[in-house]
Amino acid sequence: MPSNAMNPRVALFGLGIMGGGMARRLIGAGFPLTVFNRHPEKAAAIQREGGNVASSPRDAAAGASVAISMVADDQASRSVWLGPEGALAALQPGSVLIESSTLTVEWIRELAAAATAQGCELLDAPVTGSKMQAAAGELTFLVGGSATALEQVRPVFSAMGKNIVHLGPTGSGAMLKLINNFLCGIQAVSTGEALALIENSGLDRAKAMDFLSAAAPGSPILKTMFARMTSGDYSPNFRMELMAKDMDYAIKEGERNGVSLTSAALALSAFNRAMAEGHGDHDFAAVVEPIRRH
Ligand code: NAP
Repeated sequence: MPSNAMNPRVALFGLGIMGGGMARRLIGAGFPLTVFNRHPEKAAAIQREGGNVASSPRDAAAGASVAISMVADDQASRSVWLGPEGALAALQPGSVLIESSTLTVEWIRELAAAATAQGCELLDAPVTGSKMQAAAGELTFLVGGSATALEQVRPVFSAMGKNIVHLGPTGSGAMLKLINNFLCGIQAVSTGEALALIENSGLDRAKAMDFLSAAAPGSPILKTMFARMTSGDYSPNFRMELMAKDMDYAIKEGERNGVSLTSAALALSAFNRAMAEGHGDHDFAAVVEPIRRH
């Protein structure tokens, strides 16, 4: 499909649980899209659905005016933007980089400086919502960066999300996303502990969960965790390894800002224990399993 002012040429790096859904939304909205994934097998389905596939981020970015990254962590982000085959070198001045992975503020600022040096602009735009919301175009984007760049790419965001929250300068999105996930992570662990206590104490599990879901602790994450932890289905919506990464990044941002996230450190030790038992690629709800066995 040819590009035009409304539908600029878009590159997307990372076709994991989230990036795959985002790519399909962009194709569905009519954006000419070229994707790159480190392991190329994942790109074949996107090609069948109308996307172009490149063998490097640099090749994917050639000719694109908007480039989106949805990869695991800081290291992966550095590799797709600034690595030997990185995308930034191929982007023309005036292009907008959208970094939607959950990353440290420190790395986002470094990447933004590299983008500016090339006449481009970076928006940090991590997301809330998970696999289903990515597939349905119902993500929320937490955006840091200039309002001008955001307006330039708003139609691209709109194809993938239903809420676009402009928080402020570069790094604002990354910071709030880490705070969001730190809160989700500790609630997942505390929900696991509550569930184990319900089970071991002999309470009626269904009644106890119904009560707590409607009572003061009944947050969306508590309800989601109860459902996944009792189903025993840990096929990943959000891999535990990534949640552990987010807790680690949040703790480090806390240190940089003079705040000790002691509850995050405790939750991280629970995730580390579950990962040591082989749950790293499972949904983070599996954190309950070692808790159930002490
Ligand atoms: P995922 O399914 O594990 O996919 C990770 C992606 O990163 C894959 O495309 C992977 O490539 C790529 N990658 C990993 N290391 C790389 C490297 N060194 N170089 C290049 N590419 C690399 O993860 P996800 O669930 O889609 O999450 C993506 C990002 O969104 C993460 O930052 C995560 O924290 C965040 N997030 C996730 C959710 C969620 O519910 N899943 C929600 C909000 C935000 P390969 O396929 O080749 O391994």
